[in-house]
Amino acid sequence: MKVGIPRGLLYYEFASMWTTFFDELGIDYIISPKTDKEIYEKGVNYAMHESCLPLKVFLGHVDFLLGKCDYILIPRMETLGYYDRMCTRYQATIDLVANTFIDKDLKILPFNINYSEGESELKAFVKMGKALGKRKGQAILAYTKARHVRNGAIANQEKEMEDQVKTDKVKILLVGHKYNVFDDFSGSIILNYLKEMDVEILLATDMDGDKADFYAKELTKTMPWTFNRHLLGAILKFQGKIDGIILISSFNCGPDSMANEMILRKIKNIPILNLVIDGQEGVGGMETRLESFLDIILFKKEGGLFDRESDLSPNRKL
Ligand code: SF4
Repeated sequence: MKVGIPRGLLYYEFASMWTTFFDELGIDYIISPKTDKEIYEKGVNYAMHESCLPLKVFLGHVDFLLGKCDYILIPRMETLGYYDRMCTRYQATIDLVANTFIDKDLKILPFNINYSEGESELKAFVKMGKALGKRKGQAILAYTKARHVRNGAIANQEKEMEDQVKTDKVKILLVGHKYNVFDDFSGSIILNYLKEMDVEILLATDMDGDKADFYAKELTKTMPWTFNRHLLGAILKFQGKIDGIILISSFNCGPDSMANEMILRKIKNIPILNLVIDGQEGVGGMETRLESFLDIILFKKEGGLFDRESDLSPNRKL
């Protein structure tokens, strides 16, 4: 028995838990490779034009796994708390995949979280274990180990962030969903460029979600999308300790377009670069914008005047 895990969307949130869970239960699995041109183009061909880039990429990863495993793990996430809401793409992923591949031999292993309906993270793992022929007790034990691994990783990340803000280097907070920031065909261009420039990169997604939620309430109590609130919370926590913020979103993303517009209007006195990625080939344009942005930050660090209240807002100037 082998489970296929598509390297897209919520994979970046749950990968360590899924793999620990399967390892503990002795279940074989395969993870689709890093996104390349072929995977991207397959996804684009399957998806509706209106789909966001990460969903297109996800469909390409599902296609890669067809015929290579017995089940393909497809996550669905509606709420993480009673009043929360997730982006509709997370809510519909299982239905989207089932309908897109309706004529293929595809068996879906659902991973379904919806706290407002009583479907907790634990239940999602137990149901997955049972679907794979394991007993409830075995699944609970495997889940406990997986959660422990994840909690340890979050604690380490947070500690690292506290260390990062103490350095003298240029410090940039990267604000974007993990599947945008880490995907090899889109956001990793940005990450790699900043690493080459020896910038200290803080990832907003490294902050613990509950703590980030607490900070986000300073600016909004009504933003419905959980992950966007977490990103906002990281900005509010670190804005006084960093030199700049880079917002990374993907083309056709509804939640990011609204949340990022609010960030651009409300967060003052710090340079913000707003980048929208769209599976573009070539890195020249992106690198030019990043280079100009770093120039602005260095200018400001060296005592240059900088006024985000005026129409010299850096994201518009670039
Ligand atoms: S939040 Fe945006 S990028 Fe992410 S799945 Fe939803 S629409 Fe796509």
